[in-house]
Amino acid sequence: MNVAVIGSGTMGNGIAHVFAQHGFAVNLIDTSQAALERGLATITKNLDRQVAKGSLSGTDKTATLGRLALHTVLAEGVAQADLVVEAATENVELKLQIFRDLDRYAPAGAILASNTSSISITKIAAVTQRPAQVIGMHFMNPVPVMKLVEVIRGYATAADVTARVMDLARQLGKTPTEVNDYPGFVANRILMPMINEAIISLFEGVAGVEEIDTVMRLGMAHPMGPLQLADFIGLDVCLAILRVLHEGLGNPKYAPCPLLVNMVMAGKLGVKSGEGFYQYTAGSKELVVAERLQR
Ligand code: NAD
Repeated sequence: MNVAVIGSGTMGNGIAHVFAQHGFAVNLIDTSQAALERGLATITKNLDRQVAKGSLSGTDKTATLGRLALHTVLAEGVAQADLVVEAATENVELKLQIFRDLDRYAPAGAILASNTSSISITKIAAVTQRPAQVIGMHFMNPVPVMKLVEVIRGYATAADVTARVMDLARQLGKTPTEVNDYPGFVANRILMPMINEAIISLFEGVAGVEEIDTVMRLGMAHPMGPLQLADFIGLDVCLAILRVLHEGLGNPKYAPCPLLVNMVMAGKLGVKSGEGFYQYTAGSKELVVAERLQR
């Protein structure tokens, strides 16, 4: 079976990694050779880590890399695909164009999946001539480690397509979970209001950054507090998803906290910019110091 993965960034290289590791021939597609090389370097590094931990043999690492091919031309990369998983940048217009192209260049029987965090699968499916074969396959970061795949049925997704994607996710050693296509699906519909409420608690001076995160870590057994998690996800990404929930569901309870809006406008995006609710050493996820943002 041939799988094409569109985008070799954070999620795309992880998705390509797990498919190749589990025996699928994978074409990894991005717009530049440099992006593909970066993706491949990350896959190699992560496979090396698995070998060092003893969870993968050196032979399996070599075989996994041997199943990966890199492409900069989408039409060539998807020509033989049975399944395409799109993990390009989260931008509606970009994704709609990619799906128009996929519909044109991927074989008629191919399933077209998107790893989008927040864009409607039904909307993406509607630009193709095969909406019954379009589905959400929402992996979690980091893909090789996280067990969940949220499988999102668009309005027109066929039952047999959903069943095939659920089965494919199981073949990757993942636990697929079926959900319907409404804003934020399930993962972000529940996670983002929790993060937003943590930011509102900070904004209203209920408690400081460390206190809020400590309550949720030690009190609720979350591995990471919501403010630190927001820094890891990216505050711009959190804001964009909250806006999708707010607009899509029309309920004021999803309105993004003004502090989050201000921080994004100020370029404080979390780990990727070096500062969010915490400060980070450049290019690292190491926490330097917890800032007290009692504003
Ligand atoms: P990223 O920015 O790390 O990578 C995106 C990649 O897509 C880049 O390498 C970019 O060059 C490539 N790209 C852009 N346009 C393209 C095109 N036309 N054809 C081929 N490649 C193209 O982004 P990411 O974090 O990997 O996110 C990818 C998708 O996964 C998004 O839809 C996002 O919402 C979703 N997602 C992200 C996370 C996460 O934690 N990062 C989690 C779940 C889902």
